[in-house]
Amino acid sequence: MDKKFTRRQIIRSAAAGLLFTVTPAAFAKGVPQFVAVRIWPASAYSRITLESTEKLQYNYFTLDNPRRLVLDLKGVQLNSVLQEINSKVQRSDPYIGTIRVGQNTADTVRIVIDLKTDVNPQLFTLAPVANFKHRLVADLYPMHAQDANDPLMALLEDYSNGKISSRGTGADTPPVKKPPEPPARADNTPPAAPDRRHSRQPVIVLDPGHGGEDPGAIGKSGLREKDVVLSIARETKKRMESLGYKVHMTRNEDVFIPLGVRVAKARKLRADLFISIHADAFTSPSARGTGVYTLSTRGASSAAAKLLAQTQNNADAIGGVRTVGNKDVDSAILDMTQTVTNKDSEILGKRVLVELGKYNKLHKGSLDQANFAVLRAPDIPSILVETAFLSNPEEERKLSGMTFRHQCADAITAGVKAYLSVAILARR
Ligand SMILES: [Zn+2]
Repeated sequence: MDKKFTRRQIIRSAAAGLLFTVTPAAFAKGVPQFVAVRIWPASAYSRITLESTEKLQYNYFTLDNPRRLVLDLKGVQLNSVLQEINSKVQRSDPYIGTIRVGQNTADTVRIVIDLKTDVNPQLFTLAPVANFKHRLVADLYPMHAQDANDPLMALLEDYSNGKISSRGTGADTPPVKKPPEPPARADNTPPAAPDRRHSRQPVIVLDPGHGGEDPGAIGKSGLREKDVVLSIARETKKRMESLGYKVHMTRNEDVFIPLGVRVAKARKLRADLFISIHADAFTSPSARGTGVYTLSTRGASSAAAKLLAQTQNNADAIGGVRTVGNKDVDSAILDMTQTVTNKDSEILGKRVLVELGKYNKLHKGSLDQANFAVLRAPDIPSILVETAFLSNPEEERKLSGMTFRHQCADAITAGVKAYLSVAILARR
């Protein structure tokens, strides 16, 4: 870090950079070209994504008075895509003020990000995936988490330090409960729910899929899964709260949250139920109908279910997660607990499926199973709801309006209510 670096110098070098002309060398093979710049402002963290034809080489440092993050990109030339970056900053961005770019030396581009508050920057590159080319991601986390009631920020921090596993276990999440003893009489298999639910309001975690860099499925009209499912989750939350449930959401804004962090948040909140909400796509536009999935670690119930789980589990690669080591946990206890939890998940899933069937055709008449990463909380009954197919023109139309979204919210709430009454009866 160059301590003598002044703001005036940055501005001067940035201004000088504008006079550079793009040399033919910039188009030679192997020289990165900027193809897209995106900024995702959110209260949890703001993200800057620089997408390029080749992997970017970078250096960065922060400066005070005023607070800023300086990012140097080596072996590149400024182009019109990158010059647009400041126009992408939203005034409401909690962390980013303005962004200036310039050709700092003949082959170094400098980006200066004026910050509104102290941030903890996390920078990493991502290899091409799906429709994305190479990406350099700068995630700006708040230095001091503002909302002590929302564990998300602390979890994101743990996650970026490699302390959270794909099952949401690890860093500061509650230990996995050993499964309760099996009931003495097996004739009427009640749901073997943990008894911590006796004396308090049910705690439900709603998980709107995707967000930020990861749009999820996109319909022909441009309707994005991440927006539809956030809207359905918000409606569901309202209805459940009116029944007296405590409801949390894994995201309540357009932000990318890694799958493991979603699960870890539910565990940290000691959730009784976890419900992931999606609206997906299939290769054939004729595929349609509502579905409900539970976890299967042994294999999917159909080839389509397997494909769906693969595309959903790819969300971390698309949304952009720094690769970190995962913490291991006692897998014997996990597997026993998971079996008990899966039984509860199936009971919950069936109740929700019946309710959803009142408003839309069902994809098939029964529950589906596949190995969804987001359903892997070992001790929380978890389901994934596929509200409808964005790839089917008729269902895309339904998903675009509030009527069907309200119906989905009504159905999920009614299914949960039915499940909870059965679970409570079973413990009497
Ligand atoms: Zn999805």
